[in-house]
Amino acid sequence: MTTTTILDRQGGLSAAVLEQIKATITRLSDELHGIQQVLHNNPELAWEEKIAHDTATAYMETKGFKVTRGAYGFPTAWKAVFDNGDGPTVGFNSEMDALRGIGHACGHNLICIVGIGAAIGCAEFMKTHNVPGKIVLLGTPAEEAGGGKSFLVKEGAYDDMDICMMTHPMGQGKGAGIPFCSCAAGFSVKFKGASAHAAAHPDKGVNALDAAVSAYTNVALLRQQIPDSHRIYLTVKGSEGWSANVIPASSEIQIGIRAPTASEAITLIPRALNCVKAAALATGCEVDIRREIMYLDTRHSDELCKYLGEACAASWGPNEYTFEQEFRTPGSTDFGDVCYRVPAMHPFFRLPDMPKNETPHSDSYAKYSGTRSATDAAVQSAAGIAFVGVRALVDAAWLKTVRQGWEKQMADVGAPAMLEGLAALMQEFKPGTMAATAPCCQNGH
Ligand SMILES: [Zn+2]
Ligand SMILES: [Zn+2]
Repeated sequence: MTTTTILDRQGGLSAAVLEQIKATITRLSDELHGIQQVLHNNPELAWEEKIAHDTATAYMETKGFKVTRGAYGFPTAWKAVFDNGDGPTVGFNSEMDALRGIGHACGHNLICIVGIGAAIGCAEFMKTHNVPGKIVLLGTPAEEAGGGKSFLVKEGAYDDMDICMMTHPMGQGKGAGIPFCSCAAGFSVKFKGASAHAAAHPDKGVNALDAAVSAYTNVALLRQQIPDSHRIYLTVKGSEGWSANVIPASSEIQIGIRAPTASEAITLIPRALNCVKAAALATGCEVDIRREIMYLDTRHSDELCKYLGEACAASWGPNEYTFEQEFRTPGSTDFGDVCYRVPAMHPFFRLPDMPKNETPHSDSYAKYSGTRSATDAAVQSAAGIAFVGVRALVDAAWLKTVRQGWEKQMADVGAPAMLEGLAALMQEFKPGTMAATAPCCQNGH
């Protein structure tokens, strides 16, 4: 088959090629279901994805990929590469981590097999048609806590990719859509005061609980004056050390701040932290603010999304596949950092047997992420991003359009200067415990 028959005259891959890619990945269904089950039955938390790491890397080796275990210095990160000579590099991500107590309630076991299926689908196509280029599948730890991809971006894991893609399961239905996830920042705060007898000498106390309550109230008041799309939330900790007859000398709060875009987060973060600083000032407490997480918003490449919708609609038809071009969610993902590094896309896909209104992070969702029909949805999703990957490999003119479109999107939001501003804002604070639990910190990164 020559390039002219691979590419359709209308633009994009020919119908025969779409069918071929779909058939290759569908043939893997049983094996992918097996991997999905291993992860589902052994849910592992962020940075602890040992079984997932071992299972996925062993499988990729059987498919002719060159595997790096413990990639970039992170024990559970991995990289599987299929190199067919000089050409574009198409990247995919496989997440692996589960949620504490409720298992694979975010369906990262499905994300894992989508990445595997898509990578193999592209590689098999390259072999059959002698297409040069490279497929890089990254096993990315710690999405739910810790922001594994943010660390991988900093380590250069995405530097050689021309595009990068992954998909995430969502609610009930057939097909996919493009979720616009928020930029999320997390901080932990410690207030330090002085204890005193609550009845005999309250005047000698510096009340750290009052500082936490004041911060909570300040944030609650501020929330009335921020846009609907923005979120600030916080919890108070420290009660285990408190007694009613002692003025509390210490308290802690965890604060989360989200805005639809990184540039809006730059405005919101200082406003939220002012609530905390004002509480310390009012009560006379010392305050120690630590940065915990920073996930950028998902700024998908318009061109990649557009072609995903077109190719999938052409391949499956409207009864089997509906495509939502824009789906706003205050949810966040560490894939946001990838979107600002390379032209990237993070669609969601629907699970047909999921009850209506069921959403990720509920214990009942975990049940559906283990089903066979979820495998079939993941296989469809893998085929979708493999269509886009193969087009990037064979259609140089289009790949150039993708790159130019992404560069314009970045310029429109003021990147990279805007990102440098955000990074500087975060660097004003020392890292907190969540950042410290990342294995990277033990490696001195
Ligand atoms: Zn999640
Ligand atoms: Zn998730």
